[in-house]
Amino acid sequence: GGADLECEMLVLGAGPGGYSAAFRAADLGMKTVLVERYASLGGVCLNVGCIPSKALLHVAAVTEAANAMADHGIAFGKPKIDLDKLRGWKEKVVGKLTGGLAGMAKARKVQTVRGVGKFLDPHHLEVALTRGDGREPTGDTQVVKFDKCIIAAGSQSVKLPFIPDDPRVVDSTGALELTSIPKRMLVIGGGIIGLEMATVYASLGTRIEVVEMLDGLMTGADRDLVKVWEKVNAPRFDKVMLKTRTADVKAQKNGLKVSFEGDNAPAEPQLYDMILQSVGRRPNGNKIGAENAGVVVDERGFIATDKQLRTNVGHIFAIGDIIGQPMLAHKAVHEAHVAAEAAAGQKSVFDARQIPSVAYTDPEVAWAGKTETECKAEGIKYGKAVFPWAASGRAIANGRDEGFTKVLFDEETHRIIGGAIVGTQAGDLISELCLAIEMGCDPVDIGKTIHPHPTLGESVGMAAELFEGVCTDLP
Ligand code: FAD
Repeated sequence: GGADLECEMLVLGAGPGGYSAAFRAADLGMKTVLVERYASLGGVCLNVGCIPSKALLHVAAVTEAANAMADHGIAFGKPKIDLDKLRGWKEKVVGKLTGGLAGMAKARKVQTVRGVGKFLDPHHLEVALTRGDGREPTGDTQVVKFDKCIIAAGSQSVKLPFIPDDPRVVDSTGALELTSIPKRMLVIGGGIIGLEMATVYASLGTRIEVVEMLDGLMTGADRDLVKVWEKVNAPRFDKVMLKTRTADVKAQKNGLKVSFEGDNAPAEPQLYDMILQSVGRRPNGNKIGAENAGVVVDERGFIATDKQLRTNVGHIFAIGDIIGQPMLAHKAVHEAHVAAEAAAGQKSVFDARQIPSVAYTDPEVAWAGKTETECKAEGIKYGKAVFPWAASGRAIANGRDEGFTKVLFDEETHRIIGGAIVGTQAGDLISELCLAIEMGCDPVDIGKTIHPHPTLGESVGMAAELFEGVCTDLP
């Protein structure tokens, strides 16, 4: 068929997966087109995910730290909040990064086409062009013919069916818009995203309640970590209702009236100014005309791939949130590189030994590789060492010694297979354990490495040193 534009590599979606794939493909010499419906590159992560949430979490952490200074002899008084200025700062952070991406695309001669893409057949994508913020169709279409394609169309948040359409009901995108500071907010879903937003709003003075269907928060993490988090956060949140669900929500003039059912349900319906729905994310697989290209999409919207990120159609690859859990930006980026390299004929495969997870709450919770829960379920015999931050000079000096660092190793191979940290900056500290797992280190490799004193990072070395004497028969 006819085409308005031809390329060797077409990338659909410009999130962390898509732009990374497009850049790598261009660097490998392929003529690359990047299709994105929105005006700015960066996808969920840069525009309404990782980055704006961290900008606000930074503000929350500094506010909490300033409040805590009163105990150390310096009182700042009650914070004055200028919501417009705060929002402006967050937008500036996002703008710096998305603007940088546009420059990088240009430098690599990656051509961007703004519009909603849909496959016509295995070698053609039709783009319904958009303008403005990207939600506005121009009425024109453009057909792109491609030799190879990488699908990186991402995911969107799940909406609960019984919750009314009301401006006071938001998802993470709405919560990040910071239109107001509600007095009382209900967070539905106790996963990482919900708890991060709860942390932000709590620091702005909102009274928070969290409701979670399962019997714990942050269900991917080992319970010992979450226990520490809960202890620190108990005074910040009005209530955390586990094994409880929202049964009904009514939009009233004076608020959102919510009734609950389950183990910790309040007997009476409760009134909130705002509800945050954070009950998970759904892949966009069913919205791109994949069937026209012959690409199989499962009933939930996920696309299956092999280790080179190839779909069932040999020249079409898929990466990022659209291919499955964990839905994380760093996973998408690594998959992107593998897919672009494989498309260019290289032998790259995705075979990560670990993909770290981090809750950027206060304290942070980070884990990588196997958790204890997974080891037990898989019958892996593991040894563990835990270094409590109550023994860390730096954590004590920071006035934040409630954390710990945990290292897991395989008793048969003596290799480090997992690590987890709860405490301030755990997300930054976990990287050493990511490297250890990926390299197949044994605990002595870390324990005998001189770490700078006094640092929180030292706690990883201290935990590893606790294994000495355990690992006596090392090869
Ligand atoms: P996306 O980022 O979803 O990008 C897909 C892009 O494709 C979008 O820009 C979309 O507009 C475009 N698109 C879709 N369909 C079409 C179409 N038909 N035509 C044209 N364009 C299309 N992850 C982390 O690792 N760390 C974090 O701290 C973190 N924090 C988060 C906080 C929040 C509030 C949220 C919501 C998510 C967070 N995530 C975080 C998850 C992270 O944002 C995602 O894993 C990541 O963005 C996935 O990248 P992706 O490239 O697969 O897709």
